[in-house]
Amino acid sequence: MKENIRNLTKKELNEAMEAMGEKAFRAKQVYEWLHVKLARSTEEMTNVSKALRAKLDENYNCDGMKIVEVQSSQIDSTKKFLLGLPDGNVIESVWMKYRDWNSVCISSQVGCKMGCRFCASTLDGCVRSLTAGEMLDEVYTIQRYTGERVSNIVVMGSGEPMDNYDNIVKFVHMISNEDGLHISQRNLTVSTCGIVPKMYDLAEEHLEITLALSLHAPTDEKRRVLMPIANKYSLKEVIGACKNYFDKTGRRITFEYALVAGNNDTDEDAAELSALIGDLNCHVNLIPVNPIKERDFKRSNLKAITRFKNKLEKNRINVTIRREMGSDIDGACGQLRRKHMEENSGC
Ligand code: SAH
Repeated sequence: MKENIRNLTKKELNEAMEAMGEKAFRAKQVYEWLHVKLARSTEEMTNVSKALRAKLDENYNCDGMKIVEVQSSQIDSTKKFLLGLPDGNVIESVWMKYRDWNSVCISSQVGCKMGCRFCASTLDGCVRSLTAGEMLDEVYTIQRYTGERVSNIVVMGSGEPMDNYDNIVKFVHMISNEDGLHISQRNLTVSTCGIVPKMYDLAEEHLEITLALSLHAPTDEKRRVLMPIANKYSLKEVIGACKNYFDKTGRRITFEYALVAGNNDTDEDAAELSALIGDLNCHVNLIPVNPIKERDFKRSNLKAITRFKNKLEKNRINVTIRREMGSDIDGACGQLRRKHMEENSGC
């Protein structure tokens, strides 16, 4: 299969086009078509000769991702995109519009192998990692479709970004570069289930992105029930990696905590969580768990959620309850893709 041309950095595209016998300014034009004007095919590159367009198509896959389905929420302006890759796989990306900004949630892999018990994305394992160009194209496709500039990106869709480390770092560089969409790294969040060595590596990349850790439980014992990765790394190790990320980058850590009724939402859990992260410069995002039909985890009720939040606040921890967006469409990450796969395999 031909390589996605969007994988090439400006320097790499320069070199590739030089090898084709093209002048440097041509590479600049093509890069701009791809990463600023968000061209979805070489046909759109009107100031590039037909011969060069043909040469590019011959050597690279220059087409944007196929939009297989768009679900639009009737409640808010959230849109969920099912996008088709050239190898026949499909992935999900979500567009969320807030009052003063908008945000895209992208997938980093086709499926996921981390096995978190409440998550739909991991039920069939990981098919493959996405390339940097494919992650860029998730953003580009949505910006083209909505006609609105994407201001924030969260890598919180399907997949474990730290299991696709090099491509994520390349993606961050390319999306924030002034030759591309130039989205500030401060508006980028990468979420991990806690792959400790990669979190240490990320702290050395000199990036300004926010690191979000999927914590979900205040003790190793409880975390192991929800997340297999907790068998590999203890909370002590994971929190140590978060502290190091803050020390090296000065970026406040976000902790994601999915509230599951009767599982991790009691007063005792709130007290243990406060003790665990109390001395960190952090922010806690409480997510009422989004139930998936394959598992019987139930979301905590509003009273328990509010009580949990108040307990943390009493301990002077910054906390928000994640606002639910697009609750009338297949909300939980991985659900739309699964539905599509089930329908197309005749189950
Ligand atoms: N693999 C990464 C990023 C993808 S998941 C990670 O684990 O952080 C993004 C966030 O959504 C994670 O915090 C994940 O635990 C959470 N999540 C997944 N399924 C969920 C569900 N059904 N309800 C609530 N949160 C969920």
